[in-house]
Amino acid sequence: MNFKTIIEPFKIKSVETITMSSEEERVDFLKLAHFNPFLLKSEQVIIDFLTDSGTSAMSNEQWAAIMRGDESYAGAKSWERFYNAVNDLTGFEYVLPTHQGRAAERILYGHLGGPGKVFISNTHFDTTRANIEFSGATAYDIAIEEAKNHSVFHPFKGNLDCNKLEDLINEHGAENIGAVILTVTNNSGGGQPVSMQNAKEVAAICKKHHVLYILDCCRIAENSYFVKHREKGYENHSYRQIAQEMFALADGCVMSAKKDALVNMGGFLALKDEKLAEACTNLLIITEGFSTYGGLSGRDMEAIAIGLNEVFDKDYIYYRIKSTEYLGEKLREKGVPVMYPIGGHAVYIDSAKLYDHIPLNKYPGQALVCELYRIGGIRCVEVGSVMFGKYDENGELIPAAMELVRLAIPRRVYTQSHIDYVVEVFDELMKNKANVKGYKIIKEPKLLRHFTAHFEQL
Ligand SMILES: *Cc1c(COP(=O)(O)O)cnc(C)c1O
Repeated sequence: MNFKTIIEPFKIKSVETITMSSEEERVDFLKLAHFNPFLLKSEQVIIDFLTDSGTSAMSNEQWAAIMRGDESYAGAKSWERFYNAVNDLTGFEYVLPTHQGRAAERILYGHLGGPGKVFISNTHFDTTRANIEFSGATAYDIAIEEAKNHSVFHPFKGNLDCNKLEDLINEHGAENIGAVILTVTNNSGGGQPVSMQNAKEVAAICKKHHVLYILDCCRIAENSYFVKHREKGYENHSYRQIAQEMFALADGCVMSAKKDALVNMGGFLALKDEKLAEACTNLLIITEGFSTYGGLSGRDMEAIAIGLNEVFDKDYIYYRIKSTEYLGEKLREKGVPVMYPIGGHAVYIDSAKLYDHIPLNKYPGQALVCELYRIGGIRCVEVGSVMFGKYDENGELIPAAMELVRLAIPRRVYTQSHIDYVVEVFDELMKNKANVKGYKIIKEPKLLRHFTAHFEQL
């Protein structure tokens, strides 16, 4: 039997109320928030697609484990369970617990970086790039060319361009490469997966040049789904085996547990090399905490240990990837220009294509974000010129490369009826497409303006 409905492989034991609102109320809320959804209160939102980071629902097993949390300063049982879970999955001997992913990045890349150093990645996530550049080093993004074409299918658009990798290593000298970082899946590149073949080729090049090879493994379970179903030779591997094979190729990993460890806070750094681990542990103790808890409490470590196992459950992964794809494919059928193929954790919409009557300096992405909120109470984020635009010397906007809007799906939070509701909201949105007007920024901070800027409707 082949049923079409994707049923959630869980039952609901505890619920959180969603406050419903009318369109008139939302028009007011949006005005009060200066047309910036970051300034909305969460209770004014019906479906929150702002991020998949730290927004997961924990399982009954995770909540039970929280009661088991051993808060001893040193040698706690919770540390042992956390260490064993990370060590068993990654194979790395040295595990450093941090309060979230960026703390692990600051420790590792702060240590390896500095002026003159170079880091190379398929795409550096924004906190990764910020930590590298803050150390004085330079970060290069070299995803494959196919990643730039959003309408053509390619199974692994997250892949790193290995020819460019060799060229960059030769150009800068292997001794100046801080690390090569493979981000799986490629978050900033649309949640697109990386193939095992590519991970192997990157590993071989790093080995040949004696360059450190790090996995940014925030979404390693989601990546494993795509390897199993799109890459030859992995059909009969489990998702966990695929992840373990990918870890075995690397020298270490950095993880934000707020993604595929199914918790609300946490992260870690795991390494193979004793000397490097020692240097990083010194920084961990100065800035996060003692080596057996770092930035985490015992109960956090318990929840992560369980989440790292649950995330590889075959029914969970199937539901996770299929439900994201379901939303993306439905929108695509309606003629909404989505980034294709659909990635693992989010659906990205090309707002400049959708609202081709709104010029880029009137922020079509912000217009889409506001429309989705007005019509359906859906909150999402602009990833375009509001986020990345700059000004030239005459104060004219230098637009970002793309005007994307991201619908990021929290893990285990929404059911298919929530997703079907979102699809319906798009029907309404498409009908009203031609009447939508642009926005102008009336107040903005110097840095990271998307969080706090005020807008006016034109
Ligand atoms: C979220 C994320 C990080 C940073 O982790 P935080 O827990 O938010 O500090 C780093 N890399 C990638 C790919 C991410 O998605």
